[in-house]
Formats: sequence, structure tokens, C-alpha cells
Amino acid sequence: MDVIANGGVSWDTTSFLFDFSVENDDCNAIFDKTVLFLMMRTMPSVLINEIGTVRKKWTDRLPVALLYPNIYSVAVSNLGFQLVYSLLNRIDGVVCERFVYPRAGEPFRSLESSRPLRDFPLVFGSVSFEHDYPRLAAMLAAGAIAPFAEDRASVISPGEPVVVLGGVGVFMNPEPLALFADVMVIGEAEAILEPLIGLLRHFTTSSRADLTMTIGTSVPGCYIPGAYHFSWKENGAVAAVTRPLALPARVTKVVAPVMDTAAHSTLLSPDAELGMYMVELGRGCSRGCRFCAAGFIYRPPRLWSAEAIVQGLKERPDQMDRVGLLGMEMASEATTDVIAAYLHGDGCSLSFSSLRADRISEQMMQLLADSQLKSVAIAADGCSERLRTLINKGLSRADLLSAAVRLVTAGIFQLKLYVMIGLPTETYDDLDEFVALVDQLQASILPIGRERGRVTELTLSINCFVPKPWTPFQYCAFGGLTAAEAAVTSTGPALTALKGKVKYLRRKLAAKANLQLKFDHPEQALQQAVYARADRRIGPVLLDIGSGRYTFKQALQRHGLNPWQYAVRARNYDEMMCWEVIDHGIHAHYLWEEYERALQGRLTAACQPDICRRCGVCHAAP
Ligand code: SF4
Repeated sequence: MDVIANGGVSWDTTSFLFDFSVENDDCNAIFDKTVLFLMMRTMPSVLINEIGTVRKKWTDRLPVALLYPNIYSVAVSNLGFQLVYSLLNRIDGVVCERFVYPRAGEPFRSLESSRPLRDFPLVFGSVSFEHDYPRLAAMLAAGAIAPFAEDRASVISPGEPVVVLGGVGVFMNPEPLALFADVMVIGEAEAILEPLIGLLRHFTTSSRADLTMTIGTSVPGCYIPGAYHFSWKENGAVAAVTRPLALPARVTKVVAPVMDTAAHSTLLSPDAELGMYMVELGRGCSRGCRFCAAGFIYRPPRLWSAEAIVQGLKERPDQMDRVGLLGMEMASEATTDVIAAYLHGDGCSLSFSSLRADRISEQMMQLLADSQLKSVAIAADGCSERLRTLINKGLSRADLLSAAVRLVTAGIFQLKLYVMIGLPTETYDDLDEFVALVDQLQASILPIGRERGRVTELTLSINCFVPKPWTPFQYCAFGGLTAAEAAVTSTGPALTALKGKVKYLRRKLAAKANLQLKFDHPEQALQQAVYARADRRIGPVLLDIGSGRYTFKQALQRHGLNPWQYAVRARNYDEMMCWEVIDHGIHAHYLWEEYERALQGRLTAACQPDICRRCGVCHAAP
């Protein structure tokens, strides 16, 4: 790659319009213009130790800014963001530079050449998580880009760019961010970026409206939100959607072709939250857990071949021997054994996000033991066996106990157990069963540690369930309320119910030894629940919150929106959901049937893409 010094850049601090304080995490980044001015000519220190940075000359290249609406350590840990950075830079004649959400005093400039956002005619944003939505709005505004697409000039230029948004947040529900985007990418980047860039190259000879219309009519998976107009019913539901007839009524998701080399880390940094080389075992998940958006929007489930995964592992830099595997839940025992044998032979240690308690082979267990992993997370997800059936997790108490015992026996003395509260139909009996499970787990694992002179620790991560689009639970009320309880047009009952359960569990679990408790805050889960099922009317709210001038509550009030309508209101089968403007190929009735099966306590078998036609994604009629 070519390396150049910064040049020809006008340092314009007046472009920073916003006080960037965003509630709820450590991203409070209040811009101080003096600090900013002093820092702007230096290369970001994070890049000094980063492996995989791409620096290209700008001459005769199309500059693309790539935004990640969170701080560097989070951005560089996100495989999707890395993938888009690498794919864009692989395209001939493109130079892609990253922007991350700055910490206090850091400049808001591209990481690679320290240019301002207004130098880029194309701005891409990769959005994975709902809590990042206000930050994305703030980044556009702070970069002196008109945050709303309708306010951008017809002539496209640096400073008046085309804004393209993608990422899992966008293809779960594009509507909360619709006002900010000229184009939204519905699907997996590998399949869309090249043809999209092919058209965007013509930005100088085409008006914004003409260019986006051409993209919307010719590039599969591209949604042009400004061309779709929604009207609303009184309760917040969609009444109707209109569009120019040339555009599809629904934009079909595009999936990546089968890979010879599994997607893997292309950036490595000691500052990353996850300090490891990541390799994807596949996309999607075959298990069909009814709360999990990723399990539905990444359908069909695809497991890469063992060869493709090993090839992905081989691409890692020499000095990197800690490997993280993504998608362990789905991998077959045969595949994980091939991977385990390879990693063992290469002296690698292993890590992963979470583990399915009933899927740990002997070989994998041995590798885990050899990896000197300090802790492993097990996702139980539901408090009781009844709820684990309701969510289609299907894990028994015996599965969880056996996994915990095997892991501690293998020398992993810190276990984490994830569970949700506020699932549909949940009662205090389910919580009591969870407390009993914790007792049984401790009775099983603490003696093993004691025998070896070690302290065994169990951490419970207790999170509030958030209903997500494209899942069978998209119809549910937030907070575990029944439809009747959720009819009160207030978020109060949902928050009260969740806070009551947090308090109850805290009391029941407080006195136990060697037990750490981590609780989600119901108010923060409420924000996530609002953003997850919101429509485009939330756009000005996101901008207000991102500016740091208004709290979540104040911003909603300013724009006359009741959070109940998005987060708490239960939906019927007949309701047109705003996210149905995109099409994941899942039959309209399938999600409702799965919801009904959940309430009946019936499990649904895992996906079998070769023979199954159940949800409509596989073997769809041409
Ligand atoms: S058609 Fe069957 S195998 Fe394919 S994604 Fe749907 S449920 Fe899974």
C-alpha cells in the first residue's frame, strides 16, 4: 500500500457542531476545540500498534469514509466493520478511511490520514447495535454533514455526500435510521459493495435523486428510504406505504456467496476489546431461538466448510495465537474437531463469545483446557426449563449442570451464565427455578475447585429481554407484560415489572458465596426496545440524544412520541410492521405460527436447509 503524509486538508474546527455527550456508557466525548486543534496533526496513537491498517494515496481515487458509531476499541473488535473496510479498500480506485466515535479530547478525523468528514463524497456507516444509533446521528452532524438526507444538496460533492448505511442493525430494521441515509444496504456486504460502488463512482455526473433511483432499481439489496412514504395510525402502527412504481414494494435481502475462505479478522490491535484473531464458522444459526434476531435475519444458516475455516485461520499473522471462533452454536462436532485439531497442532489458544451447553465435544473440551481460558460463558437465556422451551432453546437443567461440571473439571474456574428476564409469560416461579439452578450449579462446581485448591466463581449476567423485528417475539410486549397489561399507554408497568424482578433476584441471590451478579438496567433496555421496533419518526429524537443536549425522555417529548408505542405495545398478526419494507424471505405467517407454538410450549426442530421449506427462506420458488 502507498503511504502518504497528510496534505491539502483544511483544518476547520467550526465544523464541530455538537457536544457529543451520550448517556449510558464510557463514550462521553465532549469536544474541546483547543485540545482538538493540538491533536489533529498527529497520527492517532491507536494506529501505531494496529496490524492491517490500509493507507492509500488519494490521487485519482474515490474517497469513502467508513463510520463506526462507537469508540475505537469496540469498532476494531467488530468483524463486520473490518470486513467492509477491507472489501472497500480491495476495490480498484477506492480509498476507504475509518471514523470512530471519539473519546473526550480526541479529534473527529479519519484514522488513516486525519482528514475531516467533509473531504469525502461518499460516507458509509456500519451499524450493529441499537444503542449506537444516536452516536451515528451525532457523527454526521459533528462532521458538518447535513444529518438528514432530505437536507443534502442535489449536487453530490465532498461535504454533500451520499450517505450509505448498512450493518446488522440496518437489515434488522432500517426505519429508525431511514432519515439519515440516501441508500441502505439490506444484506451481506460481500454481495452488494462492488455493484454499489460501480454506480456511486458516477456521483459527479448525476443528481442525488437520479443516482439513488438508479441504485434502487438496479442493485439488489439497496433500499432508498427517501423514496418511500409512510402514513400512520393513531396507535403508532403503519397505515400505508407509497413509493415510485419503479422501486420494489419490498427490498429483498441479499446474502453472500459461499466462501472458500471463512471471513476473518483483517485488523488487529492491542486496544481492541477482544484481543484475538476472529474467524467466522458460518453465518446465521440453525437453532431457531425465538428471541434472536440474528438467527432469523441471517437465514439460511450457512456453515462454512472445515477447509474454508482452516484457510481463514491460516491467514492470521504469525504472532497471533489467540483465536476467537464466531458461530460455535451451529458448528457440527465433526467441524469443531477438525478446527480443534488444527489449532492444537499450531499451538493456538481458543476463545469464543458463548457456548452451547449441549455441544461441547471431547476434543473441543481438551483444547479449551489447553487454552488456559480463564472464563467461559454459557447462554441459558431462559430462567426455567419451561421458558427455555418457550424460546426454543431446549436446554435442560441437566445440560447446563453437565456443561458447567465438564468446564470446571477441564480447569476453567470462572463461568458466566447469561439469562434474560421479562420473557413472555414469565412468572416469579420461573425466577425461583433459576435461583434453584444457581444453587445446584454451585453445589456441583464449587467442590471441584476446592479439591484443586482453586476458587470457582460463577457470574450471572441477567439481562432484560428486548423484542426484536423478524423474530416470532416481534409481536410481544416489552417487560413480559400480557397484551392486556401492555394496552395501558405508558412504559410504567413494563419498567415496574422488570425492576420488581431485578430486586427479587438480587435479594434471593445476594447472600451466595463466590457469585457475581451483573444486572441490566431496565431503563436502558427500554431505550433499546424503543430503537429496535421504531420507525423513521424516531430520527429527530436520535439526533437530539446524540447532540448531548437532551435525555432520551426529553427528546421523545420534544417530538411528541410516546415510547410505549414502539417498545411496549403488543402487535397483532395483521399489523403491517414498518420493517416489512424489507424482505427476508420469511413467510408472513411463519413468525406468527412460531409465536403461537412458543405460547403452547412446543419446540421447533433445528433448520435442515437441504430438505426444509418451513419458513420460506430455503428453496423459495424462483
Ligand atoms: S426453510 Fe427451514 S432450514 Fe431454511 S431457514 Fe427456514 S426453517 Fe431453516
